[in-house]
Amino acid sequence: MGRAFVYVILGGGVSAGYAALEFTRRGVSDGELCIISDEPVAPYERPALSKGFLLPEDPTRLPSFHTCVGANDEKLTPNWYKEHGIELILGTRVKSVDLKRMTLVSSTGETISYNFLIIATGARAMKLEEFGVEGSDAENVCYLRDLSDANKLATVIQSSSNGNAVVIGGGYIGMECAASLVINKINVSMVLPGAHCMARLFTPKIAAMYEDYYSAKGVKFIKGTVMTSFEFDENQKVTAVNLKDGSQLPADMVVVGIGIRPNISLFEGQLAMEKGGIKVNSKMQSSDSTVYAIGDVATFPVKLYGEMRRLEHVDSARKSARHAVSAIMEPENTGEFDYLPCFYSRFFAFSWQFYGDHVGEVVHFGEYEEGKVFGAYWVKEGHLVGTFLEGGTKEEYETISKVTQLKPVVMDMEELEREGLGFAERV
Ligand code: FAD
Ligand code: NDP
Repeated sequence: MGRAFVYVILGGGVSAGYAALEFTRRGVSDGELCIISDEPVAPYERPALSKGFLLPEDPTRLPSFHTCVGANDEKLTPNWYKEHGIELILGTRVKSVDLKRMTLVSSTGETISYNFLIIATGARAMKLEEFGVEGSDAENVCYLRDLSDANKLATVIQSSSNGNAVVIGGGYIGMECAASLVINKINVSMVLPGAHCMARLFTPKIAAMYEDYYSAKGVKFIKGTVMTSFEFDENQKVTAVNLKDGSQLPADMVVVGIGIRPNISLFEGQLAMEKGGIKVNSKMQSSDSTVYAIGDVATFPVKLYGEMRRLEHVDSARKSARHAVSAIMEPENTGEFDYLPCFYSRFFAFSWQFYGDHVGEVVHFGEYEEGKVFGAYWVKEGHLVGTFLEGGTKEEYETISKVTQLKPVVMDMEELEREGLGFAERV
C-alpha cells in the first residue's frame, strides 16, 4: 500500500514552505508534490517563536506567521496547499528512507515513493543530557525548536511571572528568549560558557554593548562556567540550577539554548555527509542525483567563504529552497547557488543584520549606544568580507549587503573606521 509523487519534500518547516511556493511558480501540476512533516501544522516562519510568539500582549499566533510572510510573500495557509493540489501530510514522522528504491516509510506504515526527494528535515535542539545533565523532561525546563516547545514555553512564562528564570546558553535562543522573559516581568540569569554572549559572531565590543543593556534591564550574566545539575521539588519541578563554579541559582523556570544538531540520521550510510550535514553541490543536489537537501541540513559550497558550510539561518533556508526547486525543474537555466550569508536578530528594540564572513581584522564604527546606528567591518587579506549593522534602515541593510558581496579592497583600516557606514555607501 502506498502513494507515489513526482516530488516529495521531507520536513515541513521554513525551507519546505519556500520550496512549495517556488514549485507552484514554476508550474507544478495537481497531485505531483507532497510535503510530509511530523509537525501538526503547515510550514511556518520559525523565527516568530522566540519573538512575537512570546509577547505578553497580543502574541503572534498561527495562521498569521505561515511561510512565506517572513519574506513579504504569500501566506501559505493549509487551504493554499489544497488549492494548489499539494498533498500536505502533517503529524506524520518518516521513520525510514530507502534511496535505492526511492521510497519513504512513515510512522503510520505508509510507503511513499518519489522521483525527486528534497530533504528539509532541519535540526533538533541539543539536550542537556548530551552534556551529562539530567532533567530536561521537567515541566518547567524549556527548549525552543518547534511550535509545541513554544506553547510549553509560553505557558511556563505565564506561570512564572515575577519569578526567576535561568537561561542556559548565550547564543541566539539565549539572547532572544532572555529579552522576551524580561518583557514578561521575569528575573533572568544567563549562564554562558564563554567570555561573552554570541561568542561565535559578536566581537567583545559588540557583545558588551548588548550585555550592558541587558544588565540595565536586570539580567545577570554568569560567564565562563556551565551548569552541572538541577535541584527538584517533590513533583520533579526544577527549583534551582547548580553551576560548576559551586554556586546555585534559584529557578522557577529554565530555558535551554545550547545549539542544534541537523536531522540527518535517516540518510547516514546512504548519502555523502560533510561538516555534520548532507553534502550537496551548488545546485543543492546530494551524492544521489535524485535527492536534494536544503536549509539547516545542507552543507553547500559558499563561494564567499571558499569552502563548504552548513548554515543555520532562515535566509539560507529560504534561498536554498528556491534554488533547489529551480535546479530540479529548470536544470538548464539554473546556475550555481551564489549565496551571501545573512544573519539577523531582534531583541528589545534592537535589530541587527550581518552579511558575509566574520574572519580577519575588525573595525567598529558608529555610536555604540542604545537607539544609535553602529556596526563593524571584517577585513581579510585586504578585502572587506563581513559587515554588521545595528539600527540600520532597509536601504542601509541593502547597501551593506551589496558592498559585502563585492568584497572591495580596503587600503586603510583607520580610514575605514572613520568613514563607517559612509564607506559602504561610497563603494
Ligand atoms: P525547520 O524549519 O526546522 O523544519 C524542519 C521540519 O522537518 C520540521 O517541521 C520538522 O518537524 C520536520 N522533520 C524533521 N524530521 C522529520 C521526519 N523524520 N519526518 C517528518 N518530519 C520531519 N534564523 C534567522 O536567520 N533569524 C531568526 O531570527 C531566527 N529565529 C529563530 C528562532 C527560533 C526559535 C528557532 C528555533 C530558529 C530560528 N532561526 C532564525 C533559524 C531558522 O528558523 C532555521 O534556520 C530554519 O527554520 C531552517 O529551516 P529548515 O526548513 O531547514 O528546518
Ligand atoms: P547557538 O549555537 O546560537 O548558541 C549556543 C550557545 O550555547 C552558545 O552560547 C554556546 O556557547 C552555548 N553552549 C554550548 N554548550 C553549552 C553547554 N553545555 N552549557 C551551556 N552553554 C552551552 O544555538 P541556540 O541554541 O542559541 O540556537 C539554536 C538554533 O536556532 C541555531 O541554529 C540558531 O541559528 C537558531 N536561531 C537563530 C536565531 C537568529 O538567527 N536570530 C534566533 C533563534 C534561534 P559557545 O558559543 O561559547 O560555544
